[in-house]
Amino acid sequence: LPTVAIVGRPNVGKSTLFNRLVGKKLALVDDRPGVTRDRREGDAHLLGLDFRVIDTAGYEDEDPDTLPGRMRQQTQAAVDAADVALFVVDARAGVVPLDEEIARWLRGADTPIVLMANKAEGRAGESGVYEAMALGFGDPVVFSAEHGEGIVELFEALLPHLDPLQPEPEEPIDIESPDAPLKLAIVGRPNAGKSTLVNRMLGEDRMITGPEAGITRDSIAIDWTWEGPDGPRQVRLIDTAGMRKRAKVQDKLEKLSVADALHAVDFAEVVVLLLDATLGLEAQDLRIADRVLEEGRALVIALNKWDVAENASSLFNGVKKALDEGLAQVKGVPLLAVSAATGKGIDQLIGAAFETREAWSRRVGTGELNRWFERAIEANPPPAPGGKRIKLRYLTQAKTRPPGFVLFGTRVDELPMSYQRYLINGIRRELGFGAVPVRLMLRAPKN
Ligand code: GDP
Repeated sequence: LPTVAIVGRPNVGKSTLFNRLVGKKLALVDDRPGVTRDRREGDAHLLGLDFRVIDTAGYEDEDPDTLPGRMRQQTQAAVDAADVALFVVDARAGVVPLDEEIARWLRGADTPIVLMANKAEGRAGESGVYEAMALGFGDPVVFSAEHGEGIVELFEALLPHLDPLQPEPEEPIDIESPDAPLKLAIVGRPNAGKSTLVNRMLGEDRMITGPEAGITRDSIAIDWTWEGPDGPRQVRLIDTAGMRKRAKVQDKLEKLSVADALHAVDFAEVVVLLLDATLGLEAQDLRIADRVLEEGRALVIALNKWDVAENASSLFNGVKKALDEGLAQVKGVPLLAVSAATGKGIDQLIGAAFETREAWSRRVGTGELNRWFERAIEANPPPAPGGKRIKLRYLTQAKTRPPGFVLFGTRVDELPMSYQRYLINGIRRELGFGAVPVRLMLRAPKN
């Protein structure tokens, strides 16, 4: 049988919940904190789910000063042994510091955690339910062990972790399959070689079907199959100058401004900024790159006309250095040398674009994220403006494409940009996000 652990500070109603699940009045239940209980196990049945349940009560007669240490051992042992843990808080009492401390232990656990706001019958538990949301385990199961409310919700929360026949939980809407066509835009100054590159990618005789097909003022897209080293992959080229030329659009659209290029960026996942290697990197290029990152798109930079570049290696290193210095937000944006004229480097460029999309779509688990986070703030503690230390609690990844994180803590509004950048750079470098734009939002818990 799969195992479910019940954890939480004393007197939140763990024993009542245990009895509710096991269906026998096994335990002595008492309202006084620290009433004598043993650690107990029993077989539970919940709306068709069978599992073994472990209650971690048993800190009776503990000295309140040493309670947390002992609780931590108990809690961790139970959680490690379980397939899923129910973390119970008392909705009537609200979230207290010991709950927050337990939450911190649990955040690093590999076992999935289901948060329960117990004693939530009636209205008295409402604000406690909201406080529980800030613990970082999502919305709590609103429950009353005493009254038997919230059984269905608990069942639903446990189901994905306990039922082997249950399909994987549905993916959040912002995650696209890695097999979905790569939406790619190619931008750059006039004459960088965008049309030549698009022609080279598509192959000489590939034509847009019909002179006007698929063309509106708002967007043009061409789907094609890239024969990559690991087999064919789908690419959707979006709204590049090259495509407009191919389509023989004969008006001022020919002269794409930066604003026009950025319009294509809106529809793209990955943007290739094409530079002319014979001209090097100019301020205009950096402005485009910055805007692409500001829009939250993944960026890859290609140095074109490599076939006629002089002093190739010092040129390449010079551009790389100028990029790292000139791009405020991201260091280490992929830089590739290509020749649209000869086709050299184009496969590597598209491969890099796919890889960058993967990082841009990446999701890191809350456990892994917070194990990293604890180390990061230990290595470099947040500052203490006005002598009062800013207290950072935990991180969650709120979104992907581009990745966005929420940092919870007290007085986070005073966290200097330099420290935020320290965290963002660490996330990128150490958690596999590479050189994609990463957003950090700051939240103070409600109290
Ligand atoms: P766009 O304005 O960015 O679309 O640039 P084009 O594709 O029209 O190219 C501008 C000029 O650069 C043309 O004369 C191309 O033949 C030339 N060009 C483009 N790519 C390369 C390349 O890889 N090597 C060389 N030597 N010339 C190139």
